[in-house]
Amino acid sequence: MDEIKHDGSYESDYQPAQTEILQNGGYPMHTFDDVKEIFSIYIHDDNDTKLIRKAYEFVEKKHSGIFRKSGEPYVQHLIEVAYICASLQAGPITICAGFLHDVVEDTDTTIEDIKRLFGADCARIVDSLTKIQRLKLSKRTEEEFEAEDHRKIFLGMAKDVRVIIIKLADRLHNMRTIAALKPERQRALAKETLEVFAPIAHRLGIYKVESELEDLSLKVLEPDQYHKIASSLNEKIENRSKALNLLKKKIADILLEHKINFEIESRVKSIYSIYKKMFVKGHSFNEIYDFLALRIITESELNCYEILGLIHAQFKPLPGRFKDYIANPKSNMYQSLHTTIIAGDGNIFEVQIRTKEMDEIAETGVAAHWRYKEGQNYNAKQEQKEIEEKLHWFRDFISISNESKDQNAQEYMDTLSKDIFEANVFIFTPKGKVIDLPNGSTPLDFAYRIHTKVGDSAVGALVNGVLVPLNTVLKTGDVVEIKTSKSAPGPNESWLNIVKTNSAKSHIKKFLAKKNEDVIRVEKIARGKTILFDFFRDRGYDDNQTMSLISTENLLKNYQYSTLDDLFVGIASHRPTPGAIADFLKIKRNDVKEVKLFKKENLEDDNCPVTVDNQTGFKINLGNCCTPIPGDPIVGYVTKGMGITVHRITCPNISNSKSRLIDVHWKTDLGIKSYPVDLVIECTDRVNLLSDILNVFNSNKIKCTEISAKLHPENMTTSVFAQIYVSDSNVLLNIFALLKGMKDIYDIKRVIH
Ligand code: MN
Repeated sequence: MDEIKHDGSYESDYQPAQTEILQNGGYPMHTFDDVKEIFSIYIHDDNDTKLIRKAYEFVEKKHSGIFRKSGEPYVQHLIEVAYICASLQAGPITICAGFLHDVVEDTDTTIEDIKRLFGADCARIVDSLTKIQRLKLSKRTEEEFEAEDHRKIFLGMAKDVRVIIIKLADRLHNMRTIAALKPERQRALAKETLEVFAPIAHRLGIYKVESELEDLSLKVLEPDQYHKIASSLNEKIENRSKALNLLKKKIADILLEHKINFEIESRVKSIYSIYKKMFVKGHSFNEIYDFLALRIITESELNCYEILGLIHAQFKPLPGRFKDYIANPKSNMYQSLHTTIIAGDGNIFEVQIRTKEMDEIAETGVAAHWRYKEGQNYNAKQEQKEIEEKLHWFRDFISISNESKDQNAQEYMDTLSKDIFEANVFIFTPKGKVIDLPNGSTPLDFAYRIHTKVGDSAVGALVNGVLVPLNTVLKTGDVVEIKTSKSAPGPNESWLNIVKTNSAKSHIKKFLAKKNEDVIRVEKIARGKTILFDFFRDRGYDDNQTMSLISTENLLKNYQYSTLDDLFVGIASHRPTPGAIADFLKIKRNDVKEVKLFKKENLEDDNCPVTVDNQTGFKINLGNCCTPIPGDPIVGYVTKGMGITVHRITCPNISNSKSRLIDVHWKTDLGIKSYPVDLVIECTDRVNLLSDILNVFNSNKIKCTEISAKLHPENMTTSVFAQIYVSDSNVLLNIFALLKGMKDIYDIKRVIH
């Protein structure tokens, strides 16, 4: 049984309960040469080796005379941390920083010293680690500290993953030597390890560290369960050893016969993963038949599938247990073929088939990525980018970290746990790509994870080929295809209750806010169009003619709009007025091509407040453009049909047609009629502006038929447009005076269209 290695442990298996405190937690004490032996397998540059040795010799001197609670010299901790980094195949800078990780905090060494002796890259890593460490010293309450600390670790991680790899190695060694601490400190450390560090190791794919951290934590938190499972496991392995060896031999014979290169080893499931199956999922120990696995390591992907075929031909596979993580890698890059077979004697075994590289990634995850890349040209940012591309969750992770700067730490932890640690349904795209989502996610979350455009245009979803509503809760293994439509209405308020991921939620919120803006814009375009078309119709142009008149680049350029729609929005806010546009286009009233014939009979309008030197028989209208009211200085304009339109003398619409002007007068007996006036009130923006203005109108019994406001965010002013009805210019002057006396109003104008 000596070839059976308990997954994740480095030296030995189940430690009996410790009553006395053993040096280095009872683990073998490594030397610098042991570390060197490991990294020499993959680090060949002499300069790298020299630098690592220099780091070791430096800390040996600096920490000399200091001992750990478990009795060994402090440098032992540093050697073990570097040893773990090296067994994760971390690069030379990471191993150096592993040796140096406590030297700034615990000795008189400064970051500047590190930079000078070991380079800027190494100094940056040690600096981050020191900052993380210092947080512990300034902790106020245990709870506060934990969340705060976690947060800093994650931010450090977002900058450089090497920091977290060293932090994981540091924590692993501290967990191995935890027996030296007080029981309550042990529990706190174990809890934090289980809740924070093991999931990070999982997310980075460092299975080796993850499973050992979990087992060590369980040993502290649930010692009885831990030892019970450990002894049942040993017993079971004992009983199975004969069957296992037989199976191994059989498989080896088959593979030899087919001339496939392979290594074969057996693996025991970690105690913590058995604990989870028993106590979280409620299985009994005997129901767990995959506690023992055969692992076949071969040369190529093709070999993997070949071996799978040969094994399935020889042994009966258990239905529903085959998993192809080669075609569909897990989100932490894990690749392997898994199948469970029934051996000839009825024993059930899991078989894992993978290549050497896949095995390396499965054990050490992202840690191994550095070993080829660290060195002269190592670029932390570039590396980060590559990792991000490989681990799609990482981007979400970073954006959560950045967004959360101002939230309190506890809230941050909640968001983090929710989106990252509790994440875990694995959904497939029709092409077999794995998408990893939080529990309770729906096809909409899936759609938004694919692309925000897919989410926005989603109209339905096929889950495992069946059309389902968008709020269906997804489960691991579902194959999801999103039905989209170009004419999809897009997100609505109720979608916020359907999605589970924060990223989808925040996108939908943004979309809705923008849609609201769009609706207002559409209304403004329509209003601007109506104003302009009415004005031009009055001048004899139909809407099509008006459109072609204004469709000139010059016009848009003159008013600094880039599209006609923008121009209409402007017109709706009287910037510019249609009158000004007509002026710009040199369109005069006398350009009118055709008007209805004026009929002299029954035209006298008694209601008209204006007369033409006591003559009758004219149809007299008040101009819509300048809306004259009794008291205004006015002039008449003779239209082609012999009608008269009354304008204020300041109206720009009559300035080019002096020959057709005629004197007109306000009648003296006007009664109680009132007339519309359009106003633009310029104000500094503030709350209650519109209601204060309406109050002025109300208390003076002025009818207001329309009021709207446009904010100019660039200078925080607001233009208020209002249409009011007044009987004459004196009343209007009074209103002007009242409005001008109001706080924050600095200008009032009558609008000329
Ligand atoms: Mn340490």
